[in-house]
Amino acid sequence: ERPSAAASGRDPLELLEHVFGYRAFRGPQQAIIESLVDGRDALVLMPTGGGKSLCYQIPALLRDGVGIVVSPLIALMQDQVEALRQLGVRAAFLNSSLEAREAFEVESQLLDGALDLLYVAPERLLTGRFLDLLEQAPIALFAIDEAHCVSQWGHDFRPEYRQLDVLHERWPAVPRIALTATADPRTREEIAERLGLRDAERFVSSFDRPNIRYRVEAKQNGRKQLLGFLDRHRGESGIVYCLSRKGVEATAEMLVGEGLNALPYHAGMPANERALNQRRFLREDGIVMVATIAFGMGIDKPDVRFVAHMNLPKSVEGYYQETGRAGRDGEAAEAWLCYGLQDVVLLSQMIQQGEAGDERKRIERGKLDALLGFAESTRCRRALLLGAFGEPFEGPCGNCDNCLEPPRTWDATAAAQQALSCVYRSGQRFGVAHLIDILRGSESDKLRQYGHDQLSTFGIGRDIDANRWRSLFRQLLAAGLLEVDAEGYGGLHLTAAARPLLRGEARFEARFEEVRRGRPGRDGAR
Ligand code: ADP
Ligand code: ZN
Repeated sequence: ERPSAAASGRDPLELLEHVFGYRAFRGPQQAIIESLVDGRDALVLMPTGGGKSLCYQIPALLRDGVGIVVSPLIALMQDQVEALRQLGVRAAFLNSSLEAREAFEVESQLLDGALDLLYVAPERLLTGRFLDLLEQAPIALFAIDEAHCVSQWGHDFRPEYRQLDVLHERWPAVPRIALTATADPRTREEIAERLGLRDAERFVSSFDRPNIRYRVEAKQNGRKQLLGFLDRHRGESGIVYCLSRKGVEATAEMLVGEGLNALPYHAGMPANERALNQRRFLREDGIVMVATIAFGMGIDKPDVRFVAHMNLPKSVEGYYQETGRAGRDGEAAEAWLCYGLQDVVLLSQMIQQGEAGDERKRIERGKLDALLGFAESTRCRRALLLGAFGEPFEGPCGNCDNCLEPPRTWDATAAAQQALSCVYRSGQRFGVAHLIDILRGSESDKLRQYGHDQLSTFGIGRDIDANRWRSLFRQLLAAGLLEVDAEGYGGLHLTAAARPLLRGEARFEARFEEVRRGRPGRDGAR
């Protein structure tokens, strides 16, 4: 039987050095540790890679009893426990991957006081049997990892997380720490509320990831653009996110065909294949993981050099989380988003046709709008991202596309008026492709069939090419002057905000969509 690693010192810094091999605490780590050691609750908001684990691992070693860590991620549990054991920490985990006999063994260790840290899945923790077992063991602290899983508005929602307030009821004297890298203020409040952490001390780190370069590009030929992007990252590890399973498979196949080391990952694949691909991504160099957002939560690979999005993510928080998997080692990394109007239409429809109630749909719609605003903005991307989390940052950051190559703008007032009146005159139910056909005066049967070749807006926008029109429509959507129909097929209608422009009382400044042709050199990612 190994003695507890805690025996090597009773001081946080000493443990940090002797057990974990680090010289100094990062950011708020020390304050958080002291708070828990003193028996106070803590709510920790720290970006991915910030060093959340030590915040409960060290106090668990310093306090009497075992630290109970609630984690929804089975794969991650295993990795953490292995790493801890190598450091001489007496750690174990309990989840559905264990055989009954192995689980029994861990439970005996728990009762014998032979554990410093025990990782447990929420559904197991919440069983009456396990809670009764816990009554018989001295507990150092409860750590609730990925605490945003308590939020039913997030995409990681875990209903069991909502019952975790039982910990406070049954062990009021045991300090609790909730940790998350999800920063939006709304989720923050929900965590505090749901987990009974209103009075917990809050530790909010800066969410800036200065080494990540943000870029957003309008989609024209997605495949070609992706290949151009990957060209800048030859031989590097990275993730390419697609919206659908089909998109994942097609993209992975295409990349393999181009000679790239790409692997697919989505929830529809057999579990063993998925696990294999994930393991290869973690252990091998230079793999491009093509995945849905099912991939990534809890992935701790420090040298992910890029995260590409081939579709619009669902929210700014999601985008931040997903791109946050790049550059955890602090070295230069790139987050690249390539999106088109079709994404907006598709996501709008997914929301409208989803099962969620009206209130939730309204929130999801708002999140999508915010992300669209981010994508179309000419402001510093970093300032926009951090602003969404309530963190003041003026910019320019010097490390995003808008700062590096300030977008040119043009006075699009007249064109915007034409676009809006075209929407109005055609009955506010047609999609962008059809509207552009009207504006550019295309000869098509569909147009004639609807009599749209007779409209006063027919052909008035011939001098503007289709790409420029698409870009303008996106910007009108982002500015909230147009909306995608709730039901139906991507039709657009005007909002009240369009009125001043139509009446000639407002101007509309639009960004020029630069078509990036050349392939920038390697220093482009510095
Ligand atoms: P998070 O859970 O916030 O994403 P982790 O706890 O996994 O972050 O820590 C991220 C990385 O930083 C890990 O490799 C960890 O060992 C390292 N780390 C954490 N704290 C320190 C520190 N004080 N000094 C050096 N490295 C640290
Ligand atoms: Zn910037």
